[in-house]
Amino acid sequence: MLKGRNTFEIVFLVGFVAGSVVRNAYMARCKGVKLEKQCSNVLDFILVSTAGVGMIVPLLYLFTPWLDFAKYNLPGWSGWVGIVAFAGAIFMLWRSHADLGRNWSAKLRITGQHSLVTNGVYRYIRHPMYTSHTLWAIAQGLLLSNWLAGWAFLVLSLPLYIVRIPKEERMMLEHFGEEYRQYMSRTGRLVPRVWK
Ligand code: SAH
Repeated sequence: MLKGRNTFEIVFLVGFVAGSVVRNAYMARCKGVKLEKQCSNVLDFILVSTAGVGMIVPLLYLFTPWLDFAKYNLPGWSGWVGIVAFAGAIFMLWRSHADLGRNWSAKLRITGQHSLVTNGVYRYIRHPMYTSHTLWAIAQGLLLSNWLAGWAFLVLSLPLYIVRIPKEERMMLEHFGEEYRQYMSRTGRLVPRVWK
């Protein structure tokens, strides 16, 4: 088990466990939330599942020899940048879950007591959780010396965000109207807005 894996790959595994602990802790707090509107469809389910595969392929690489054919050498700086990116991803995941509270859901939905969150990390970015996942995907690529396991999450999650973000924003606009329109005008989607 983990034979032939380097230090950065072990660091990835530690980060993976830490991120999973954060997610599961907050997911548990969202149990029993009542639904008002459900906007996810089959395409959303397929895209979320595909992205999920990209996130767990590294486990197959780390614990079995099956993906060893895709090993390659990364430059020396890559692992260090990967550690910084992964730390940023876990921090953003924690803060976005903490700020979103029981408004969180894996699917696109409006809950019975939904409130628009515009504080904390949501003050500057409308989708900090997706930013966190993107940072995670980049870190995965920089930490794992395997092109398949390394870049699978980034490649497989891009279609999800291209389809989901505009749809999620339409849903929020429909529900929160002018309040969300104004929120959009002062925030960036995935990175803070530095222009007016
Ligand atoms: N896109 C956000 C949230 C992901 S969780 C992010 O990346 O941080 C998805 C759910 O969050 C959606 O179903 C939506 O109902 C809810 N949501 C998204 N932005 C929100 C906000 N600013 N306030 C409250 N709920 C929000």
